[in-house]
Amino acid sequence: MSHPHPELSAPPELPAGGLRVIPLGGLGEVGRNMTVFEYDGRLLVVDCGVLFPDDSQPGVDLILPDFGPIRDRLDAVEAIVLTHGHEDHIGATPYLLRERQDIPLVGSELTLALVNSKLREHRLRQTPFYTVKEGDRISFGPFDLEFVAVNHSIPDALAVAIRTGAGMVLHTGDFKMDQLPLDGRITDLRAFARLGEEGVDLFLTDSTNAEVPGFTTAERRITPVLEQAFAESSQRIIVACFASHVHRVQQVLDAAVKHNRKVAYVGRSMVRNMAIARDLGYLTVPPGVMVEAKELADLAPERQVLISTGSQGEPLSALARIAQRSHNFVHLQEGDTVILASSLIPGNENAVYRVINGLMRLGARVVHKGNALVHVSGHASAGELLYCYNIVRPRNVLPVHGEVRHMLANGELAKATGVENVVYAEDGVVVDLVDGVASVVGKVECGYVFVDGQSVGDVTESELKDRRILGEEGFISVIVVVDSVSGKVSAGPEIHARGHAWVDSDFESIKQPIVDAVNRSLDEGTTDTYQLQQTVRRTIGRWVSNTHKRRPMIIPVVVEA
Ligand SMILES: [Zn+2]
Ligand SMILES: [Zn+2]
Repeated sequence: MSHPHPELSAPPELPAGGLRVIPLGGLGEVGRNMTVFEYDGRLLVVDCGVLFPDDSQPGVDLILPDFGPIRDRLDAVEAIVLTHGHEDHIGATPYLLRERQDIPLVGSELTLALVNSKLREHRLRQTPFYTVKEGDRISFGPFDLEFVAVNHSIPDALAVAIRTGAGMVLHTGDFKMDQLPLDGRITDLRAFARLGEEGVDLFLTDSTNAEVPGFTTAERRITPVLEQAFAESSQRIIVACFASHVHRVQQVLDAAVKHNRKVAYVGRSMVRNMAIARDLGYLTVPPGVMVEAKELADLAPERQVLISTGSQGEPLSALARIAQRSHNFVHLQEGDTVILASSLIPGNENAVYRVINGLMRLGARVVHKGNALVHVSGHASAGELLYCYNIVRPRNVLPVHGEVRHMLANGELAKATGVENVVYAEDGVVVDLVDGVASVVGKVECGYVFVDGQSVGDVTESELKDRRILGEEGFISVIVVVDSVSGKVSAGPEIHARGHAWVDSDFESIKQPIVDAVNRSLDEGTTDTYQLQQTVRRTIGRWVSNTHKRRPMIIPVVVEA
């Protein structure tokens, strides 16, 4: 990724007594959140998440933060603090721990339980866990941490106050200010106020919804809408939501009991996460309501509810397979109801609407965010952010967690409440807090790291470009044999193409020009096969572009015989 701040160079040495903030992901995108704090030569990591690829990154499974800037200093990392259990905050943790297994992990009970199941998949067993809850205070090296309850779209989320000799940082994590949450656990504004009284030198705040005016709607408002959808359904109901949205699943379970339906989970992450949430007491499962997915099919359709993953249109998810009629045991019937009780993450629009269209083509009634209040955001809107700034009264603000537009809107809100120093940074841009003032001091190299199957970081942006060209334009191979004695083309060109409606006769007219071009190069004394291949590439490339308006990948092969 090209860096948005060409004017910046490597940061100078951190002044004694200063705190350095190095965002390695999540500033400039919604996903792969990771921020490094440095004080007195020691490092603290807050969050270590993944970003999911979009249509322009074919074949990529996940995108990680770039650990490059701290790779040589992993011994200096005191701990990784995980603010909550969403993938964009915990998903890359196993990849960082693969580089140093014994970095302590700090987080709430649910967060650590969710990350633990990932560590087991990666066979990581030597990581110390420090379970914390709101109000707890614990030190790692020079970092004195205090945790504050925040309300979000997953239970047990925490903000963290980080005290060092440079002052106090307050990082909200992801949060909103639902005043009547289903679990009664509100964002602790009293703690925010207390920390504000003590003096917050740098406030890192969730920017996701900074452009949205007013207040985020309460989760409770969804309950009657779900109830209504249940009441109107005379057949099977399928609800798709995030596999971590415990409260949404709770609402569905409660509605199912009320309407005399049984529930089954489909999707591996849904089954796993809800078992964890139930075992730890975050999800209350009414007796007798759950059945195995395969048993559910034996019940009458009007008694069935499936809770499934795939609300973002992920192509391999249960919901996508149901929409394509390729699920092994869930077969959609005309008149079934599908409820997408989830947000639409930017970039997923095409995939989600593809699934919705597929479901509707099969005769399903689809209830989604666009036609009913079946989802509310997990993030604070502008009104809530204003409250926070007024309560905390921070000296410096660094908007985090968002695209550029979100972070700029968030900074404007801070300024409107009288915050004098708002610092904007993107991934890799280094911010120092020295003598109570935060400022941008430089940048570190920080790119995308792609996970593709078993490989991490081997796939590069240029290979993705090749994949896009192959996917959109196809390829043409050209084989030419050169006689090294006569210095002339002796056979070929043999031309093959894939990916477009080419037929071999399409290439007849370009064969002689290729022979002529190669012979001319040979006459001029070129013997290097790479250069001859470039001649072939140029000749056929120009012709394909002019006559067919295409730019396929061209693979020229020149063989000496
Ligand atoms: Zn979150
Ligand atoms: Zn997040």
